[in-house]
Amino acid sequence: MNLVQGYGKVDSSSLEAESLKNIYSLSLAELQEICKKPYQAKQLYHWLYVCYEKEFAKMSNLPKDFREMLQLQYSAQNLNLLTQEVSRDGTRKYLFQTRDNHTFESVCIKMRDKKYDENGKVIQGEKYTFCISSQIGCKVGCAFCSTAKGGFVRDLTSGEIVEQVVNLKKYNNLAPEKRVNIVYMGMGEPLNNFDNLMHAIKILSALEGLSISPKRQTISTSGISPRIYDLGQQNLGVQLAISLHAVDDTLRSKLIPMNKTYNIQSVIDAVRAFPIDTRKRVMFEYLVIRDINDDLASAKKLLKLLDGIKAKVNLILFNPHSGTKFQRPEEAKVKAFADFLTNKGLLATIRESKGIDISAACGQLREKTKQSVSYET
Ligand code: SAH
Ligand code: SF4
Repeated sequence: MNLVQGYGKVDSSSLEAESLKNIYSLSLAELQEICKKPYQAKQLYHWLYVCYEKEFAKMSNLPKDFREMLQLQYSAQNLNLLTQEVSRDGTRKYLFQTRDNHTFESVCIKMRDKKYDENGKVIQGEKYTFCISSQIGCKVGCAFCSTAKGGFVRDLTSGEIVEQVVNLKKYNNLAPEKRVNIVYMGMGEPLNNFDNLMHAIKILSALEGLSISPKRQTISTSGISPRIYDLGQQNLGVQLAISLHAVDDTLRSKLIPMNKTYNIQSVIDAVRAFPIDTRKRVMFEYLVIRDINDDLASAKKLLKLLDGIKAKVNLILFNPHSGTKFQRPEEAKVKAFADFLTNKGLLATIRESKGIDISAACGQLREKTKQSVSYET
């Protein structure tokens, strides 16, 4: 593990200027409203999302007075990178600080991918998945989650959600046309920040900008049933992941207290109403915790529960952190759980423990860094 601190700092004068608006919060149509000529909005979008340029002064084809207005009223540097951890497997975890001095995390997961050269020969490629935060802290308060420990601070703005993606592409030197996947599995409950998330998805998918298709964006939720219906009604084409973790309400309510309000059946009903792309499946995440939910009887119940749903199950090995009594399950038991489901025809995968040496689960870097990093404003 390699810990890098203070890389890519926002200059402090821009941090002080709290009144500056985040330029990444604006859709192309909204940018057009602040530009004198519509094509200037497209030029600005190009600088922000294709060149990853952060300084308005360097946007050379924009008129000088327009650049000056942008500089006075807007900023493209709203997140200060406090710490970066690099795992042996190439996973990178970033700790960002907001203008109002809160911290949250984003992760870049690099995986091997098959590619073909011009002669059709298989060559080694790489694919990238960004794990993006939607809130600072979380209100849901799951018993196993490190994010929950810090309580809830505030929603991230749509600009802060978008800026994470821009920064991760920039830091990893990814060409603008390099496709990336986004999973909203960082800190926070995305469906508790519904409007900002919808706006961010619109900006991230704009063809003139980052052009990340909603199909490549997965929203993971602890199961806020009414918001799952709302998300379905938006018909964006995004992928849905449900953090199920338990197959009976008693255990699920202990793990995810909100289950007392939105129980398993209400979540399943909402998923059944969700428009699923014909070639896709809803992902059910199942956090496997030793001696809590790792038995085959639970696997059997899970199979029954998901009957008739186009589902795939992703088994996540619990990642222990300080302040929890829960333990990582035995790998053989997780494999037996997965094999049982697969043999019965339900697609089940075991999530690779990417970045296991770098506080991999959400909220862990933030908790750790709270004790070791103090940042002066
Ligand atoms: N709030 C949303 C998205 C963020 S959490 C949700 O709960 O789905 C993203 C995933 O990280 C969830 O599936 C959650 O169960 C998992 N997670 C949380 N703490 C973990 C830990 N200690 N080990 C492994 N996965 C964890
Ligand atoms: Fe919130 Fe998800 Fe953590 Fe639960 S697992 S506390 S919903 S971030």
